[in-house]
Amino acid sequence: MTGTTTPDVLLSIRDLRVSFDGFTAVDGVDLDVARGDIRFLIGPNGAGKTTLVDAVTGLSRASGSVEFDGRQLLGRSVHRIARMGIGRTFQTATVFERLTVEQNLDIAAGAGRSALTLLRRRRSTPQSVLRALEEIGLTAQRDKLAGALAHGQKQWLEIGMLLVQDARLLLLDEPVAGMSHEEREATGLLLQKVSRDRTVVVIEHDMDFMRSFARTVSVLHAGRVLSEGTVEEVQADPGVQEVYLGHAPVTDTGATGVPVPARTPAAQEA
Ligand code: ADP
Ligand code: MG
Repeated sequence: MTGTTTPDVLLSIRDLRVSFDGFTAVDGVDLDVARGDIRFLIGPNGAGKTTLVDAVTGLSRASGSVEFDGRQLLGRSVHRIARMGIGRTFQTATVFERLTVEQNLDIAAGAGRSALTLLRRRRSTPQSVLRALEEIGLTAQRDKLAGALAHGQKQWLEIGMLLVQDARLLLLDEPVAGMSHEEREATGLLLQKVSRDRTVVVIEHDMDFMRSFARTVSVLHAGRVLSEGTVEEVQADPGVQEVYLGHAPVTDTGATGVPVPARTPAAQEA
């Protein structure tokens, strides 16, 4: 299936379904992400957020349709999908801890070349690696072992690895979990920078982070899209308030607005 999406839509998902032994984790999701968007994907634990990203990136078998730039992704391998320009990070950082920051980026940039070739001392650093170091703010840490980086810096390095791979769509699974307030701010600014010429989908629980940096939001619940729109729109949606608070609020939402699931223990453990 090609040519069914409008030009400003980069990712178009239709009737996506993923089941595990009879349990349906993603239950008929429709989702369009426009080029240059910073789309937040929120929802309680078990809503199917990670599974949806797994399906898009080829890690889970799914039915329905996922078009990226008009090309069908379902049925393609993880490797092929990555090469088409889709990069994702996982809930736990997956950098090579015993290699330096620069070596990590180098390997990502040269995915396909042999590790031995890449590890040999090189005379010059590729431009793409220098640009990524700058963009993720780790130029001064380039010779540091990735394992010695602060938690936030590891996540940024992972994002840098997607940048050198020239990912046009970045799917980030809870990138600010465990980060300090300062690290969250820096991550949000990085996402804004990245989205100038790429598209970003962020799975996130932190509502303050979402309010600051989301351009659009989709709320997932029990494998379905419960609500979609701007931050204000989804926060005002009684269905969303019910899922997060267990009831629809009857009075004023206060200065910060509801819902605030990031403050509840259940929302933080994911
Ligand atoms: P979220 O990321 O929104 O917290 P997940 O996508 O991880 O949710 O999980 C959605 C549902 O699918 C959960 O009930 C989870 O237990 C189930 N699930 C996820 N992966 C598997 C799997 N590999 N096998 C069986 N069930 C799974
Ligand atoms: Mg998850």
